[in-house]
Amino acid sequence: MVSSRRQFLKISAGLATAGMLTGFSRRALMAAGAVVSEKHFEITEIRRTAVQLEFRPTPRRNMDREIPHWRYSELCDVTLKCGVTGTGETLMFYTWGATSDEAVNRAKGRSALELLWDDSLGAGLQMALFDAVGRAADLPVHALLGPKVHATTPLSWWNIDTSAADMAEECLEAYRLGYMSYKTKGRPWFDVFRQVEESAKVVPADFRIDMDFNDTLRDADRALPILKKLERYPQVDIYESPIPQEDVEGNRRIAEATRVKVAMHYGTPSPSTVVKTGCCDGFVAGGGATKLMSTGRFCSETSLPLWLQLVGSGLTAAHSLHFGGVLEQAVWPAVNCHQLYENNLLTEPILLKNGAATVPDRPGLGYEINRDLVNKLMIPKPLERPEPKRLIETVWSSGKRMYTANTGKVNFMLTAANEGRYPYYEAGADTRLVPDDGSARWQQLYEKARTGGPFEA
Ligand SMILES: [Mg+2]
Repeated sequence: MVSSRRQFLKISAGLATAGMLTGFSRRALMAAGAVVSEKHFEITEIRRTAVQLEFRPTPRRNMDREIPHWRYSELCDVTLKCGVTGTGETLMFYTWGATSDEAVNRAKGRSALELLWDDSLGAGLQMALFDAVGRAADLPVHALLGPKVHATTPLSWWNIDTSAADMAEECLEAYRLGYMSYKTKGRPWFDVFRQVEESAKVVPADFRIDMDFNDTLRDADRALPILKKLERYPQVDIYESPIPQEDVEGNRRIAEATRVKVAMHYGTPSPSTVVKTGCCDGFVAGGGATKLMSTGRFCSETSLPLWLQLVGSGLTAAHSLHFGGVLEQAVWPAVNCHQLYENNLLTEPILLKNGAATVPDRPGLGYEINRDLVNKLMIPKPLERPEPKRLIETVWSSGKRMYTANTGKVNFMLTAANEGRYPYYEAGADTRLVPDDGSARWQQLYEKARTGGPFEA
């Protein structure tokens, strides 16, 4: 008993020295220390499994234009010496950090407790360690992070930019399932006013719509007329990155001029610049556990809100719930994107009521994996990002028509927009994927768009 206690104090001291454990979670682990020793947490096996998820039909016809590769996910199962297995997930081609072979080799044989806060392990491995340690200690992940300050945490539905009809349909589906918030992209190849107009018709006034422009409004002078017109809809609640985040003065003018809140990805400009200038009202928080907690501490000190943006299937969403439980300022709805998929890798769905989900108190992530489904969706791990041929058509009410094709680069449409190669938020814009009908015309348009697009035809 004496030696196991000494060993446990050593573990706790190590974590505390690294500045990682709060008093609360240290106490929780000390309590767990009565029954477990450091050896129990030794990582004996790490298995990775690639799966191909499918999007629901409405997101599918929109995601397939630009980011079909969000289908590929890698599960990471970590087994500890005590026999417990924890599971994490990395969306293979859209993640703050992929789990590398090197990280897996480095972790094997080490203590899961020692590695918990190492963000360099990547999303899937770090999440699996939290799940495994939580299960081994019979504690929910939130207890490893700090004191739980929220019993429930708000979540947003997410979808890429879509036609106005698709967006209204998705908003309605979100509302039906208990969501009170919908986040999407603001893009010049859709009519943003029609999108919001149609959606506002099918949801109540207190349902929130957030738009991420990813800089496409370019500068405050051009952005303001659009943002002021959109704010007339009571549902419009947050504008994310309307213009480049480095444009502090432009963002400050926007934040001052609109009742709608302005969000920026944490980091640029420096958080202290945000506090000094008021160039945004809150943050998008992403990354590993250490980074998230540090962002959360800054937000607590400055009373600025944040939303958690951890993207993946239900497993990632479950992980995010725990951070939502401990981060005081995680009061804007989290963006996890798991609503995109028709497959739920969890045995039960994450349920929402009045826009929020319960922070789980069950051990680990608090959700179980549907292994039958995982076995069904399993694929050989793609060596590189799959790049299917896509031809995209945009039309405007003026009759103008443009074609874009995938260029082999991620964000090829966004890049073109920010290079000013599409008309700037013109009325009636509508965009769709043109199915490959095997015709010579499709092939011609595709080749031309791929090398010299977007072009007007
Ligand atoms: Mg964003």
